Amino acid sequence: MVDMSSLQALYGGTFDPVHYGHLKPVEILANLIGLQRVIIMPNNVPPHRPQPEATSEQRKAMLELAIADKPLFQLDERELRRETPSYTSQTLQEWRAERGPTQPLGFIIGQDSLLNFPSWHQYETILQNSHLIVCRRPGYPLTMKEEQHQEWLDTHLTNNVEDLHTLPAGKIYLAETPWFDISATLIRERLQQDLSCDELLPAPVLDYIHQHGLYQKSADE
Ligand code: ATP
Repeated sequence: MVDMSSLQALYGGTFDPVHYGHLKPVEILANLIGLQRVIIMPNNVPPHRPQPEATSEQRKAMLELAIADKPLFQLDERELRRETPSYTSQTLQEWRAERGPTQPLGFIIGQDSLLNFPSWHQYETILQNSHLIVCRRPGYPLTMKEEQHQEWLDTHLTNNVEDLHTLPAGKIYLAETPWFDISATLIRERLQQDLSCDELLPAPVLDYIHQHGLYQKSADE
């Protein structure tokens, strides 16, 4: 019998701020594929993106508020504590070393991240240490732009959930999670325009944003 509780999953991102497009697909994913725990890991200096607007402390505080009533999620601050850029490849290598060679490990990403995954630092090594579990996101194709990257995807693709629980790493699984048309960019833009974000992120996170005056129009605009 396959032990469907053995897979451990890590979910990285900037979370500037955390929103329902992060939380809801992963909660549904956990039910779909049998995840007991998701380690949520905010990054510090994302190498391939503009710098976050909120500080590391603020992004962490918002995450803590967002997951306070959700035991599925556990916060991991290792990338925030690092002074250097957060390379997923390095983090997953460390995680693998900690958990041993046979533990099934999964890294959760959205569909948009899969499309630009080949631009990530040492992306090929990531599948040596973990599986990739992909949540759907509206507005992004399911095929890779370049043929060689499509071949890479096809080589690793599985539609068998058991693979994620029995193999330690190496598979890409496209989960049939529902679409949530929400992004942190959209939320920052709406907040600048004083538009409601009630449906887009948890109320305690929105309260925190207002209390700390985050994502407001800068004075010289
Ligand atoms: P920004 O708009 O600032 O680029 P974002 O909303 O894409 O941010 P990130 O923190 O960059 O959020 O994303 C962290 C992870 O969550 C990524 O793997 C991303 O693909 C995934 N993700 C974010 N929003 C969604 C969504 N609406 N549906 C599915 N996955 C998502």
